[in-house]
Amino acid sequence: MHDPSAHSKPRIAISACLTGHSVRYNGGHKASDLCRTQLEAHFDWSPVCPEVAIGLGIPRDPIRLVGDPQNPSVVGTRDPDMDVTGPLALYGERMAMELDDICGYIFMQKSPSCGLERVKVYQENGYPALQGGTGAYAAAFCARRPDLPVEEEGRLHDPVLRENFISRVYAYADWQHLLADGLSRGALVRFHSRYKYLLMANNPHAYRQLGRLLGTMRREDDPQEIGPRYFSQLMQALRRCASRGTHGNVLQHLSGYFKSALTDQDKAELQHLIDQYQQGVVPLVVPLTLLKHYLRKYPDPYLQQQAYLQPHPDSLGLRNAV
Ligand code: SF4
Repeated sequence: MHDPSAHSKPRIAISACLTGHSVRYNGGHKASDLCRTQLEAHFDWSPVCPEVAIGLGIPRDPIRLVGDPQNPSVVGTRDPDMDVTGPLALYGERMAMELDDICGYIFMQKSPSCGLERVKVYQENGYPALQGGTGAYAAAFCARRPDLPVEEEGRLHDPVLRENFISRVYAYADWQHLLADGLSRGALVRFHSRYKYLLMANNPHAYRQLGRLLGTMRREDDPQEIGPRYFSQLMQALRRCASRGTHGNVLQHLSGYFKSALTDQDKAELQHLIDQYQQGVVPLVVPLTLLKHYLRKYPDPYLQQQAYLQPHPDSLGLRNAV
């Protein structure tokens, strides 16, 4: 069976205040219960506070975004002449290069440095623009690492977004292991084959596109060129969250593998659980547990390697809530 915990814990960068470091402008922190109680056992953290790193002290004068929401500046709230846009952006670019062993990044929301979206951008009238912006450090970092799974801590409280983000972190880690072992045409095709049903659940359209990309690969094509292109498209595709409808479709496909092994009564029971999942009566883990039971009883090598069945360790309990 595909085992996401077979390797060492994936490393995730995280806004330092979320891990309990007292690095905020007021000397406080924003320790995240979610990160510290549910996620900490499964990941190694790399805490980063860009404001402290560029030399703003603790405590310090607060800063905020101003100007064009698409391209805001970061200035002191009390002293608008203190402009730290450049240092924060430079530090973001630097960390994007230095943090080369991370498989994801959890950012603090609403921050003019770390926020990913909807950060208030103040206008000359003293009020924020209707459209929010992105923190200067986060914008520079993400521009350099477009394939890296990133999310705001606040959004991780949504079980669907949390499950999606953690799945992408493990997929990213899986790809790093593939690269370490050596990228070849065969390795690329085998990787895609393992991600078939996860892709089908998250993004059926991209599933077909990526299948075509590899299906038309010729013997003389260089995997070193196609591989990064494939992975980039895969990571973009997996950002879309699976719905009950697309999960239901995948569950139907998976149940088809057992149609000759199961009795009519077993098939009816499995179908009933898939229907109940699609109606929102039971979580995804319920029909999946029965499918995995049948997979142990009637092993199928192709199904056993599917990342969809185990995109992250069971002990995270992520599919109990979606
Ligand atoms: S949000 Fe970012 S810059 Fe602000 S205290 Fe937390 S880590 Fe530091």
